[in-house]
Amino acid sequence: VGTGKFFVGGNWKCNGTQESIAKLVSDLNATTLEDDVDIVVAPPAIYIQQVVKSLAPRIQVSAQNAWVGGGGAFTGEVSAEQLKDIGTKWLITGHSERRHILGEKSDFIGKKSAYALSKNLNVIACVGEKLEERESNHTFDVIFEQLQAFVDELPSWSNVVVAYEPVWAIGTGKVATPQQAQEVHSAIRKWLGEKLSTEVAAQIRIIYGGSVTGANSSELAKQEDIDGFLVGGASLKGPEFATIVNSGT
Ligand code: PEP
Repeated sequence: VGTGKFFVGGNWKCNGTQESIAKLVSDLNATTLEDDVDIVVAPPAIYIQQVVKSLAPRIQVSAQNAWVGGGGAFTGEVSAEQLKDIGTKWLITGHSERRHILGEKSDFIGKKSAYALSKNLNVIACVGEKLEERESNHTFDVIFEQLQAFVDELPSWSNVVVAYEPVWAIGTGKVATPQQAQEVHSAIRKWLGEKLSTEVAAQIRIIYGGSVTGANSSELAKQEDIDGFLVGGASLKGPEFATIVNSGT
């Protein structure tokens, strides 16, 4: 059972314009958010500064990606130092869209996460199985392989949140049942307890992502090993995101 504070992240992905993001920020600033929740939103990199400057400081800002190491001759990339320089506090790593569309491998993701932590970004480390992996009973093999790469690279887990995001549930409207999610969350916590320590396992937040909405979040949040959410589509609507934030209490 997790003892950490409830955590809700909004992943805006590659969506928005200056105008629509100004509207989303002002909607978020107008919502009532419970005190006892850590809240993070991840705008597209190009809009991070706009969000840092306009969003209430109650909500922290995350990047969706960073380069694997320090800056230099890496055309098109943005470094952890640069993200930090403009007020970014978090980095999402290992998201399934980056693993499966961009081809990022677990060891690369582990290195990127370690580098971000070394530059004082907090990390949301994502893992999750594809539908065919679940159907062939490989869910735990896949998740533990992905987690092992983080274990191999990360010097400390105090600034890390683990997100379990089954690929078949992301952006599909097919949310995992509370029981399906709880089964994996509890297995992740047990595994981290064996690989790291019982303290890390108890304190780490393990959040669920995949078609979370204002209508299904409170049932999921009742599960004992679900410590929050990573929200895609529903994070683009301020009031619905606030409902999800407030569903943990
Ligand atoms: C995500 O991409 O992290 C995600 C969970 O997306 P959605 O909520 O849209 O399924």
